[in-house]
Order: sequence, then C-alpha cells, then structure tokens
Amino acid sequence: MLTVYNCLKDGDLLEFRTANLQLMKEWNLSLLLKLIRHEPSISRAKLTAKTNLSPTTVSSLVAELIKNGLVREIGIGESAAGRKPILLELIPNGRIALGIIINHDGIMVAPVNLIGQPLMIYKEQANLDDSQDIIEKIIAGIELSLKYLEEHHLSPSLAGAGIGVLGLVEGHKTRYLLGDDWHSFDLKPLLERYKNQFTFAIENDVNAMALGETWFGIGEEKRHVLYVYLGYGLGAGLIINGNLYRGAYGNAGELGHMSISSDGQKCSCGLVGCLGPVSDGTHVLLKIKEALKNGEPTRMTLDNLSLETFISGALDGDPLGKKILDEMILNVSVGVISAINLLNPSLVILGGMLCPPDNIVSDKLINNITKCSIEGHRNGFKVVASNLGTSAGVVGAATLVLKNLFELPAYTEKK
Ligand SMILES: [Zn+2]
Repeated sequence: MLTVYNCLKDGDLLEFRTANLQLMKEWNLSLLLKLIRHEPSISRAKLTAKTNLSPTTVSSLVAELIKNGLVREIGIGESAAGRKPILLELIPNGRIALGIIINHDGIMVAPVNLIGQPLMIYKEQANLDDSQDIIEKIIAGIELSLKYLEEHHLSPSLAGAGIGVLGLVEGHKTRYLLGDDWHSFDLKPLLERYKNQFTFAIENDVNAMALGETWFGIGEEKRHVLYVYLGYGLGAGLIINGNLYRGAYGNAGELGHMSISSDGQKCSCGLVGCLGPVSDGTHVLLKIKEALKNGEPTRMTLDNLSLETFISGALDGDPLGKKILDEMILNVSVGVISAINLLNPSLVILGGMLCPPDNIVSDKLINNITKCSIEGHRNGFKVVASNLGTSAGVVGAATLVLKNLFELPAYTEKK
C-alpha cells in the first residue's frame, strides 16, 4: 500500500482517496440494505449495533436509501428506556428486474421485485430451433412488462434484465442439443435492441433457478445447495459455499449427462449410459410413444399425451404410466444420490414441472434420496420440493440482477 502512495502525485492521491471513500460508501449502503432485507422492522440503532458504524453514518446512509426509494419508515417500535425507535423496511417495488427464461418448457418474461415477487408473467411456447421466433417472443414479453411498469408508475425502478437460457452459455451465445443436433442461439439482437434502456445478465437457466432458490426460495441463505431441475430436461445448479459454481468452462451441473451405466441408450451428447435419456420428461414421452406403438396396455393415447397426462395416468393406476414413472424415479434417484455423495450439500431442492410440492414424483424422490444418500442420515440435511413453482425460472433470472444490489459494491442510485 505504501508503495502505491509513494508513486502517486498529490492530485492522484486525492482521486485515489475519493474513489476509495466512494467504494466504502457503496459497500456500507449494500450492507445496510442486506440487513434491512433480512430483518424487516429494524431500527437505525440496531443497524448501528450490527455494523459497528457510527450512528451519524447509519442515519446519513439510511437517508440516502430512503431518498432513492429502496427503504421506508414503517412506524415506531418499542423501547425499554429512552426514545422509541423508528422502524425500517425494504420497499418491495423499489427496484425491479425483468426475469427472462428460455428452455424446453417455453419462454417466460416477468418483472420481479426486490422480494422475489413476479408482478405479471408472460408465457409462450417457442420453437427452440428457430432463433428468430425465440427473439420475437422475448421482445413481446419484454414490451408487455415495460408497459405494465409504465402503467403502474414503476418504470424508474427498472434495474436491468436477467436471462436464464438453456444450454452451454458463453457470453451472449448458447449452444444446446435438439435431438441429435447442436443448435446455436445468439442473444445479441436482443441486447442491441435494448442497449440504451437497460443492461442484461445472462446465465444457464438451471443455474439461474438455483440462484433464485437461495435468494428468494426455500434455500434462502443456505450455503451448500444442490438444485435439481426435472421437466422436459434434467439438470442441476450447484451453490457451493454460498456461490453459484460454474466449473472451469461454465458447464457444471449437467446432471442429465451424468453417466450411470456402461451401456444403454445412446445420448444426444454422443455417449451411452447418460441419466437424461432414462429419466427426463422428453425421453419419458418418447418411451410412452414407443410403448403405444408396441400395443402395451394403457389408457394414454397419442392425442392426449403430455407430461401432465402421464403423471395423472400413473396416479390413477395406469399400468404403463406407473411402470415408466417408477423407472424414472429410480433413475433420477440414482443420479441425485451420486451427486449428493460427491458434493455434500445440506439442502437438495427439487424443481421443474415434474417436481411441484406434494406431488407423487417429488414425494417419492424425497423418500428415496433421504433414505439412500449418506447425508440422508445426518441431522439438518433436507430434501425438499421448490416453493417457487412455475415462477422459479423468472425469479431466478431476475435474481441475476437483483442480487447485485445487496452485494458489494454494486449499489446504484435510482435514475
Ligand atoms: Zn449425454
């Protein structure tokens, strides 16, 4: 540090000090915001005690948070002696991020507020092999969201947009398998279109969901979380020591390509024995179609075939539905148990359209995984179904932007 000072001229030193003071201020603003988020109805005195900042500094920083529409006073608290404290809380719509999700379940866009609530949701199906179609539908969702914000006088609260997109994400591009073919998708036209209005953050879809779960869902504040997504695809998001783990090339969590057998069906990745082809929703439907062709007894038909009819058929005792469901649950359990024994999380969250809470798939998976994993026998370890439901994707994508407000040093003033 001394060397740095010695190299600086007077003017540089002033600039250096000013920059550091600004950084420290942003750090403290984010810290206070984080404390207020986690303890609604907190007073300035308690913030002072928790941060070791002076009462004057806390008062001045809280005044700035109030001025910027992030925090409000909500009344007077109790006090054993002396002046009664004024209580503070986060303003839910003080900042809003657009959450955009693109995967096999469709396209969803939603403005999401500081407490992880989607204010409205746009949902559309899209052809994943048609980049133009995807971009047009996202734009339609963004425009509807912007209109909603304008009508509700919330446009100044927009902090940016987060995109969760399937595949191997690199910068603004992603590559994903459709059948046996790789498809490339570039989000640049979207970024260009809105470059003067807001910025984007881009992440793999399941990674974004995992992040959303640890900020606004059932895994809030948990440090070691395995998030498992089971819908048309199968994937995982890893939160390790409180951070999203992407791996060396950003592809960590490809649970669907975990090898569970030395033989079996060839996977679209080129290998045999991957977990996805014996467990994800896309392959379950293919398996049912094959069985229908072979005349296996079932009440399911090609006309009404979907993941919903498969689950309801299995619940009603349809023999084919029940058989395929049992196979799927066994295979997913094997993969998730291996991942747990490798990663040692304290919490496993099951999400995706096949795993809503209190549903036959999540209940059976929770039972198998708890019973058969090493950690299942440890106090405190839990396997649960996500409580974010179908909004997990948009909430997760918006988290890519919203989390920056509470992290250091990303606090920004409202425009
Ligand atoms: Zn594979």
